[in-house]
Amino acid sequence: MDTKSLSDRILKHDRRALARGITLVESARADHRSQASELLARLAGAGRQSLRIGLSGTPGVGKSTFIESFGMMLIGQGLKVAVLAVDPSSARSGGSILGDKTRMERLSREKNAFIRPSPSQSHLGGVARRTREAIALCEAAGYDVVLIETVGVGQSETVVSEMSDLFLLLLAPAGGDELQGVKRGIMEMADMILVNKADGDLKAAATRTCADYAGALRLLRKRTQDPEDFPKAMTVSAVEQHGLDAAWKEMQSLVQWRRDNGHWQANRAAQAKYWFDQEVRHTLLARLDTAKAKADMDRLKDEVASGRLSPTTAAEKMLAMLN
Ligand code: GDP
Repeated sequence: MDTKSLSDRILKHDRRALARGITLVESARADHRSQASELLARLAGAGRQSLRIGLSGTPGVGKSTFIESFGMMLIGQGLKVAVLAVDPSSARSGGSILGDKTRMERLSREKNAFIRPSPSQSHLGGVARRTREAIALCEAAGYDVVLIETVGVGQSETVVSEMSDLFLLLLAPAGGDELQGVKRGIMEMADMILVNKADGDLKAAATRTCADYAGALRLLRKRTQDPEDFPKAMTVSAVEQHGLDAAWKEMQSLVQWRRDNGHWQANRAAQAKYWFDQEVRHTLLARLDTAKAKADMDRLKDEVASGRLSPTTAAEKMLAMLN
């Protein structure tokens, strides 16, 4: 199918066309890359501005269950929901495949839901670009909310938070009163911490954990642009579907506040600049990865080692050859 008819179908909210479009942006083949660029150019600025929600949590905290319950609730309110995943491949050994449809059975049957598992990719720069492009396609296809799931292993959180309007950290109740070794950097990104599994025997522990994190968030509070009580911690139960509505109301109120105060647009603009910068860097680094560049590097290294060229002069020669 040509990109014109594909883009027309995506704009008409055709899910299969959307899936095909995402396959194009995920492909490493040169002809697919150029079709993907054409498609993205056609769709630029079309569709709607979705609310992009990043969601992180270690395997087992209940991300799939939460996305299923939260997604069903949003659909019940008449919204269209897309689920994407950023999955550093090393995290797969954690046993949690992100964006897995079999783990979100009810949601995957809804016509107003679109779920896309993460591509098996090793390097995060490539995953980041594909996910950003997939988000753009979901927006063109009319999704109101795009949930971007990731697993709490470090770098991928930064990637997801830089493409989200809101960033949620999902936690499970802790046994004692210790904080769960959540990296400070990840906590600093969170707009909200949701302590899941606040039900049955775990309820009291969830309430305690939530209070601990609320305290920690107050100490960490960096984003002075947000209202006083953000970032905040709340308890939810994805299984009993409890607290999800309250959490959604808080998300909406924060988003509205940011919109009213100009922070929403400023944040998107800052993200666009960040990704431009990253894209330039990644592309330059990729140029060093070709066979010819590697051979040139090896040759110049020999010259530097033998003292025939200074490191600086050799670097200048190398950079000139990359152009
Ligand atoms: P993920 O690895 O983060 O996607 O976690 P899952 O959604 O697969 O959930 C891991 C386990 O926690 C499963 O056995 C779920 O049934 C359970 N779980 C998820 N949410 C809740 C909840 O709200 N309450 C309770 N009690 N268990 C939950």
